[in-house]
Parts: sequence; C-alpha cells; structure tokens
Amino acid sequence: PSAEAGLYTASDQIVLLTQENVVSVLINSTAAMIVEFYASWCGHCVAFSPTYKALARDIKEWKPAVDLAAVDCADQENREVCKTYKVRGYPTIKFFHAYSKPDYEGLPFRDLRHKILDKLETHGEPWPPACPPLEPTSQMEVDVFFETNDVKHLALIFEDATSYVGREVTLDLLQFDSIAVRRVLNTEESLVTKLGVTEFPSCYLYYPGGNFTRLRVDIEARAFYSYALQRLPGVVRSGKPPPVSTELLKNNTEDPWRPFDKFRVYMADLESTLHYSLRVELGAQSVFQGRALTSLKAYISVLAKYFPGRPIVTNLLKDLNSWLQKQTGDRISYETFKEKLENDAQSPNSTLPDGVRWVGCQGSQPHFRRYPCGVWTLFHVLTVQANSKGSDPQEVLRAMRSYVHNFFGCRECAGHFENMAAETLEQVTSLPTAVLWLWSRHNVVNNRLAGALSEDPQFPKIQWPPPDMCSACHAVKDNGEHTWNLTEVLKFLLTYFSSDRILTDYLE
Ligand code: FAD
Repeated sequence: PSAEAGLYTASDQIVLLTQENVVSVLINSTAAMIVEFYASWCGHCVAFSPTYKALARDIKEWKPAVDLAAVDCADQENREVCKTYKVRGYPTIKFFHAYSKPDYEGLPFRDLRHKILDKLETHGEPWPPACPPLEPTSQMEVDVFFETNDVKHLALIFEDATSYVGREVTLDLLQFDSIAVRRVLNTEESLVTKLGVTEFPSCYLYYPGGNFTRLRVDIEARAFYSYALQRLPGVVRSGKPPPVSTELLKNNTEDPWRPFDKFRVYMADLESTLHYSLRVELGAQSVFQGRALTSLKAYISVLAKYFPGRPIVTNLLKDLNSWLQKQTGDRISYETFKEKLENDAQSPNSTLPDGVRWVGCQGSQPHFRRYPCGVWTLFHVLTVQANSKGSDPQEVLRAMRSYVHNFFGCRECAGHFENMAAETLEQVTSLPTAVLWLWSRHNVVNNRLAGALSEDPQFPKIQWPPPDMCSACHAVKDNGEHTWNLTEVLKFLLTYFSSDRILTDYLE
C-alpha cells in the first residue's frame, strides 16, 4: 500500500522501504544506502520529491556501490521503521554505510551527490566491495595499472582537488566492463607533464606501454565524459553480451538484416507500424464501442491529417478516416473496419503494404525493438507534423494517449504511459511544447528501462539525442550539472522528424 500512496514508485530507481523489507535492504547491505524518510502529506517532501527522483536518475549507474531508498513515514505500516531511526522531521535524509549494523549514522545534506561522494570516500573498512577506488591516482600506480587490472581502457580524469567530476565519472562507469576510471590531481606533476595536460578537467585514455590520447568531447564535463567512455570499443554494461558487427547480427533474425543510418527516420518503419497497428493490434478487438470507438476515430483522424507518407498511403488513410467519421452507430466491429481497410488497399491509388519491414527499428533479436520503436517514432513524427499544420496543441498527444490506453498490446507500458499523461499532459499548451512533451516523456521511459531485460544490448537506452547527434542540445549549468538546451532540442526534433528528411529506402 505504501508503494501506491507514497511519493515514489518502483519505476523511480528508488528502493521503497517498508517494515517488511527494511532489514533486508538496510542491514548488512553490500552497497552504501541513502534513505529519505518522508511523509506523503508534507508539502516540503512533495516539493523535494522531483529532486530526489532526479538524483536517483542521475546516479542510477552507481547502484551497486550506493543506492537510494525512501520510506513513507505517513503510512501506518511504516511507523516502526521511522521510529527506530528516530526520524522527527520530514524529509530527513540519512546515509547508511555498507554493512550497516541495525544502528545508523544520519546527516541531512545539501548538494546530495557531492556529499554522497564525500561520505563514500571516507567510508572506511569494510569498503562497499563494488565501489572502485575514489582517491586520486599517481604516476606510480598508473605505471603498474595494467599488471593488476584486467581492463582494456584506463581513463584518467585530470582535475583540481575541489572537482568531483573524476569521482562521478568513475561511478558512472561502475557497471561497465573493460574500463576503469581514475582521477589525477593537477598537482600530480609527473603525469601532468608526461601527458602535456593543460586543461582541468580533461580526460585522457591511457594504454599499456604508456600510449595515451585525449578523449575528445564537446564540453569538458561529467555527462560528456561518461557518455563517450560508455561507448568505447569493447566497453559494455556488465552481464550484457558485447556488441557484435552487423555481419553477425544477420544470423540472429529470420529477416535479412537491412543496413541503416542510426541517425535517420525510415518510412519503412512508419508503414510497418501502421500495418501492425491497423491489421494486428486493433484486430485484437472484436468490436469498438464507447471509449474504444472514440479512441479509434481520434487515432485514424490524426493519421489522416498528419501522416507524412507516400500519396498512396495517405489516400488510404484519408479515405478510411472519412468513412469512419461518418459512422454514426455506437459500435463498429473490427471485421467491418478491416473490410473497409482492405477494400481501400485494393484500389489502384491507395494501399498499405502488407507485412513489416523494420529498418531503423530492427533489433538484434526478434524480441527486441520493432513495433514499440515504431510507435514512438510514428508519434514523434506526428507531433512534428502537427507543429506546422495543426491548431490544437494536445490533439496528437490525446490520440496517442487513448490509443496506448485502449489498444497498445504492452499493457504494462500502457499503465506507465497513462500515469505520465495523467500527471503532465494538461501542461501542454502549445504545439512546440507538445513536441517537447513527447520527447521528455520518452526520455523518462528510456531512463526507467536502461539496463532492463527489454533493452537491446546493441541499442542501449540513452538520454536522447546523445551528444554525437546533437551537441548543441546539451549544456552544463554553472554548478557543473548537465542540462538540456530546450531551444536547441526543439530545433533538432523539428528537423530530425520532419517529413522531408524521412528516408524511403526499402519500401515495397
Ligand atoms: P525506443 O525507445 O523504442 O525508441 C525508438 C527510437 O526513437 C530510438 O531508436 C531513437 O531513434 C528515438 N528516440 C529515443 N529516445 C527518444 C526521445 N526521448 N525522443 C525522441 N526520439 C527518441 N517497455 C517496457 O519495458 N516498459 C514500459 O513501461 C514501456 N513503456 C512504453 C510506453 C510506450 C508509449 C511505448 C511506445 C513503448 C514503451 N515501452 C516500454 C517499449 C520501450 O519504450 C521501447 O520502445 C522498446 O524497448 C524498444 O526500444 P528501442 O531501443 O527500439 O528504442
């Protein structure tokens, strides 16, 4: 019950503490734990919760070394937990050492992430076993590094003593194999001189035998280093198979592999999505009535208005739509709908190719990517089309919301998406904010799914667009935090998903 009523849910990357799991989570944990004790009715806690969620997103890669938890002290069932830890005001944040005994050390802190690093660094024995060394390294250690460490890459982050970047990046790479990160202080003269380092912070890759190269990034900051390092050859998330060449990918799916440009949108994916949606997913309904009928009408209507397809396909959508909007009955069977669709598809100047040909949405295995990738892509394209042609800011998003709610086959996805829409869709008051809303919600989903079983190891879930796609989209605040430049993001989305940039390769 606390998980439902509280300020956090299981998808926030925050452990939800309860009376039942408190011992197993906190006591003798191999990771250090940060716990927020809050009361769901407390205004400060509500105001603080987005910060705590953002922190959880921000340091989710650090989990095996330090993890975040929260407990709702307003929930009757958790009373004892909050009493045990002598919590009197909300929110209270406490730091639990790895292998904590059933007592605690608590400290509220201001700049949470840095304080966490401070606490981790002074952790003492026994050190959380998953946590790499955080203290600065020296020329001597670097010289023998490859003798004692079985990794391909050693990244050295040169910085001054007050900077946290090196330690942050070290933990950002914690769950990745084949790479280690160490910080080097600007006072470590021999290394600074040897590599000719003049900028702090800056990052260098160091190899056995003493070869080194500077890591090229657009901005010398944590997010840019971590992103670039996580993508070095051979660096993979632990437990995930290493990336394979597209040559090998060919053998994994029954379809022939179609080479594609990762930075482009393909019409073949959009048409495949329409095929699957109209002929397979909607076919799971025997009859549309009430909300389902309204939802179907809204969906077909936005497709007819905004789908930037080949004329033969848009003709079909328009015809289907004018027929559908004329149906005045309170129910339509799928059979009737399908009959109309297939009739239209027979006519000489309108069609919808039968079957799927995934291109940009191909997965390395048949159960990865494909249709859900197509659904996201389709609706991004539609919001971008509506931005120049529409007038109602929420039209496309409402159609998507109700399509997902009523018909999307992944019911768990539908539940999550409905929650997000219920929380924030009302805030969309202009066409550009609709484009940005879908982008930012998609990133929330990407964040939740990073490292999940459904993630295709060849196509890791990232905060999108990454710096190598849109460098200007990324910015760093004065305090060193990563932030998005929304003006640039919008510009990028309007171009990336625009109809004249959609590639028509592999169409029938
Ligand atoms: P996708 O996330 O499907 O993205 C497709 C393409 O869109 C990417 O290749 C990229 O080019 C582009 N893209 C990526 N991020 C953005 C962005 N922020 N803005 C614009 N374009 C972007 N799966 C679950 O396991 N649990 C869920 O709860 C869940 N909820 C979902 C909700 C919806 C509405 C949808 C459509 C899908 C959901 N899925 C969920 C599926 C999941 O989000 C992915 O679609 C699926 O795992 C395939 O991932 P992918 O690698 O192809 O990339």
